[in-house]
Amino acid sequence: MKIICVGRNYSEHAKELGNAVPVNPVIFCKPDTAIIKNKEPFYIPAFSNDVHHEVELVIKINKTGKQIQEKFARSYFNEVGLGIDFTARDVQQQLKEKGLPWELAKGFDGSACLGNFINLDGLDLNEIKFSLHKNGNPIQIGKSGDMIFSFEKIISFVSQYFTLKVGDLIYTGTPAGVSKVSIGDKLEGFLGDKLMLSCEVK
Ligand code: ZN
Repeated sequence: MKIICVGRNYSEHAKELGNAVPVNPVIFCKPDTAIIKNKEPFYIPAFSNDVHHEVELVIKINKTGKQIQEKFARSYFNEVGLGIDFTARDVQQQLKEKGLPWELAKGFDGSACLGNFINLDGLDLNEIKFSLHKNGNPIQIGKSGDMIFSFEKIISFVSQYFTLKVGDLIYTGTPAGVSKVSIGDKLEGFLGDKLMLSCEVK
């Protein structure tokens, strides 16, 4: 399986990092070795002094497809969960300045925290509310309808380049409120008021 991620998919987050709002989705990938599951600890890597949390809605592909039209994209996923795209912001900044790919800053071991999933039957895809709490305080709050590129648009776009396979994950971008994590922080992700993910920083 592969992990596909969308950058800058919420305009407030693009602004907080000083980036322009993109015309097409900004896409990068993480290797499967990046995954840590719900309740597993996240270890800050030795090469970074500035790892940020980015809480994101994650959809799971349930049917193989390529060059999927947006109007058919809904039939390629039926579960949504929460993930944290841990980002070594200092490393990413250096890579950006040199015009280099972001994988070292985004794809390292443990950088794809993955919580539980729920079935999407009967849910309004524009009304999925989610949040991340750090040490009990809400720090990132988002809603699917605020995404610049919808789930269907993302699937249509990425499937022009990559064949999507059953089990592939798409991290759909983070809302504003990213910040540095420190040893001892407790991160908890909620879909609505349902706890879907918890992770302690070590
Ligand atoms: Zn992200």
